[in-house]
Amino acid sequence: MSTPVQASATVMINALAQRKQAEGIKVYNLSAGEPKVTTPEVVRQAAIQFIERGDIPYPTANGLLALREAAAHWLNHHYGTTYSAAETIVTAGGKLGLYLLLQYYCASTSPLCTNGAGPIGVLIPKPYWVSYPAIASMMGGVPVLIATGEATGWKLTPDLLKKAYTPACKLLVLNNGVNPTGVLYTRAEIAALLALAQELNLTVISDEVYSALVYTDEEYVSCGSFPAYRDNVVVIQSTSKSFAMTGWRVGFVFGPADLIKAMSALNSQSITGVSLVCQQAALAAFQHAAEINAWVQQEMKARRDVMISAFQHYFDLTLPPPPAALYVFVSLLSLGVTNMNDETFALRALEEANVAVVPGSAFGQPGYVRFSYSVDATDLELGIQQLAQFVRLC
Ligand code: PLP
Repeated sequence: MSTPVQASATVMINALAQRKQAEGIKVYNLSAGEPKVTTPEVVRQAAIQFIERGDIPYPTANGLLALREAAAHWLNHHYGTTYSAAETIVTAGGKLGLYLLLQYYCASTSPLCTNGAGPIGVLIPKPYWVSYPAIASMMGGVPVLIATGEATGWKLTPDLLKKAYTPACKLLVLNNGVNPTGVLYTRAEIAALLALAQELNLTVISDEVYSALVYTDEEYVSCGSFPAYRDNVVVIQSTSKSFAMTGWRVGFVFGPADLIKAMSALNSQSITGVSLVCQQAALAAFQHAAEINAWVQQEMKARRDVMISAFQHYFDLTLPPPPAALYVFVSLLSLGVTNMNDETFALRALEEANVAVVPGSAFGQPGYVRFSYSVDATDLELGIQQLAQFVRLC
């Protein structure tokens, strides 16, 4: 029998935390990867007005033209890409975008598969977002994990990529604005990785869902913005993080028109398309992108700073503020924990201190813990305080 599909560890911890909350217990939930802010009024109103029409038909498989145009315009304007609506598909979150891409590329009918050559290798830097290896395996691909290290800033380098590569590898999943480490790649680093990927004939799936959550003056570099590598790059985007719309489930894939057409067929044979209510909401969000993106970014930056100060105050731990995303990735050793592994730590922190965090093992990096700073400042402060107390006692 084949290995059962693993449920996402982050989703599991989050569910456990929510169960405690439902029992009336106050939980400091530092596990979820979603900006905890209210959906802007303009977005909610767009959905409500569309619902009030009363006629909510099936959506088209590739998504509303107006939304695809707006999303492509947003990406092109902010990140120097040149995608058209025909090179854009609306998916039920970035996660489904990744799922459909891996379904397409790992299938034996995929243009990346050579007849009889066996399953394709999917190169994934480690630590990774939990869903990359899980989905790659589900689709019949073979995850090829590339270890990066804290000492080198958790970054994938051409050298590491070259060492991990085998001829079976056809895909590289690159996440910029990294979950769980908060790493941000520079233009030169991205250019070097794309050049090598091209040389190795790798298609790059670039997960850019945290592109608007950058907290330094450094630019966010989209892999889609390099004309020389355009045909070998597919970009995943989402309204979840940049527009604080996680529950609306609206994401995008940008790539060559033929690929988008194939993904459209997969959408049509599975979810049909993304709910038009949510697409209308997303359209309104893009019409107010500048204000919404800036607001979410400012909120998350302030919360990041609260978390960094709380670590300093309660653990006497000086952490470099992560430049992007929503997370701080810390070793148990630096927290002064030596008597349990990261999974036990996460479980006991939730059971005994009511603080939910995600063990590094979920990201392929045992011995570490991921803290999300996406909740409000009071919960962040009290959560870290409770955790410090728990660590002192255990
Ligand atoms: N990519 C990364 C790195 C993520 O952290 C997430 C969500 O946590 C996603 C993609 C998927 O986001 P969504 O499906 O909500 O667009």
